[in-house]
Amino acid sequence: MRLLTALLATTLLATPALAGPDFAPAVEADYAAHLEKLFVDFHKNPELSFKEARTAAIMAKELRAVPGIVVTEKVGGTGVVGVMKNGDGPVLLVRADMDGLPLKEDSGVAYPSTVTQVDIDGTTKPVMHACGHDVHITSMIGTARQLARLRDRWRGTVVFVVQPGEERIDGARRMLADGLYTRFPKPDYAVAFHVTADMPTGKLSLEPGISSSSSDSVDITIPGIGTHGASPHQGKDPIVMGAQIVMALQTLVSREIAPLKPGVVTVGSFHSGFKHNIISDKAELQLTVRSDDEDTRKKLLDGIKRIAANVGRMNGMPEDKLPTVKVGFESTPVTLNDPALTGRVRSAFTSAFGEDVMHVEERTGMGAEDFAYFIQKDLGVPGAYFVVGGTPQADLDADKAGGKPVPAHHSPFFRIDPKPSVTLGTQAMTVAVLDLLKR
Ligand SMILES: [Zn+2]
Ligand SMILES: [Zn+2]
Repeated sequence: MRLLTALLATTLLATPALAGPDFAPAVEADYAAHLEKLFVDFHKNPELSFKEARTAAIMAKELRAVPGIVVTEKVGGTGVVGVMKNGDGPVLLVRADMDGLPLKEDSGVAYPSTVTQVDIDGTTKPVMHACGHDVHITSMIGTARQLARLRDRWRGTVVFVVQPGEERIDGARRMLADGLYTRFPKPDYAVAFHVTADMPTGKLSLEPGISSSSSDSVDITIPGIGTHGASPHQGKDPIVMGAQIVMALQTLVSREIAPLKPGVVTVGSFHSGFKHNIISDKAELQLTVRSDDEDTRKKLLDGIKRIAANVGRMNGMPEDKLPTVKVGFESTPVTLNDPALTGRVRSAFTSAFGEDVMHVEERTGMGAEDFAYFIQKDLGVPGAYFVVGGTPQADLDADKAGGKPVPAHHSPFFRIDPKPSVTLGTQAMTVAVLDLLKR
């Protein structure tokens, strides 16, 4: 009995205070030796969507340096694909997005970005990793390096997908159109993660069902008939028509969508005119439209077309000069986490890190994510998209108590605590792969 007590005590003492997979120390060591430098370099040198040439070249070089990975560059533009084969078994897609945002960094980190870049619209913009995609790509390299080390624990194929243009939600579609599922092994499952400033470091979140909303960018062009501002009756004012469209759009969600279904129609840009006393001949609106199901998405997009055209008619515009609506660029469906796959990855997480690692992250807005394209139902690739905490608990507590607010994603003040984010991102992704490709 005494022996048993002693034995029990030793076992308890031997249990580490922090739960984690057995390879956690190797990830920590790799962070210090390699990943930290890589992260800082990515952070200081962000690139805009579809302009990620430098980042892609580094990712290709890093993946090539891992034994057993065959790398292909320029897939769907700047995309990179690394195929790691390790005998017969399932094929798993691991995706990381790599683009930054057109913002001037003011985060206060010791390694800020000061770079500018010519965007796809031809204008020069400051660039910042203001969404944490630098954490995603660094963790992908961390994961690849662990999987090479732990080769005897898994079998099958891992397809590493370094995706461009997530912020313009078109990079996934471009990679698929360039043969991602035909030129490379087609995945049986797909996994990805996002780091978030809203969740404490050391925490993971993964729930079945809707992980992010659908998003559609919509452009409305409103032709008018230009004239002197003092003789409005001789023209057709596109600014008045634009204002009527903006107001009419407000009834789409409030009057046409069932009250318990979410939806957003935001007019983010309204441009028209040249001068005080000129009635312009054109107005342009830019919208973002969000929903959580295809039926609502269709209702909103159809409603926008109906409203735009009929406001033109209401103002007496001829049928060939009615407002036109452009949809279908910068769009993504809802990201749905497959329940079975999500359950499996979630239990791999809790057995590796303990139950406490899981955090229930409430959705507070209708963010979108083009990972949805890789796991569209008709492609038959179930997906799981998880979230990794990126802000120290103390900072979140201070914010909650009315102190310094934690900066949001896409803000010049955005900052992530890199070490816990990259190490947990690497560990969690490696745990997911080891479980899904178990020997
Ligand atoms: Zn973002
Ligand atoms: Zn993002």
